[in-house]
Amino acid sequence: MKLTRAPNFVIGQHWVNLLATAGIECELHNRYLNGALGEIPADQCAPELWLVDERDEMLARRILERAQSGPPPGAASWRCHSCGETLEPQFTACWRCGAVREAL
Ligand SMILES: [Zn+2]
Repeated sequence: MKLTRAPNFVIGQHWVNLLATAGIECELHNRYLNGALGEIPADQCAPELWLVDERDEMLARRILERAQSGPPPGAASWRCHSCGETLEPQFTACWRCGAVREAL
């Protein structure tokens, strides 16, 4: 069954990986993409995420919701407001001084 549509292929692949980590099988479908990547305008390449087992739907949606509320892949690193350390986007607190990241 179709779960959702990803904004682009990179994010779609990222979601597939996230779901696979949770033990949910899914596939990335793209009806415009017939092995001709690069010849199609990017806005027509939005891939669709299809669940192999529809019983996974609720869990899958929760995982994707959480993924979208966090920093997107490729997000900029941030600087600790307390000690000035530069931190990767996936961290929510400074590893050096423990200060919690300020809201974006
Ligand atoms: Zn710090």
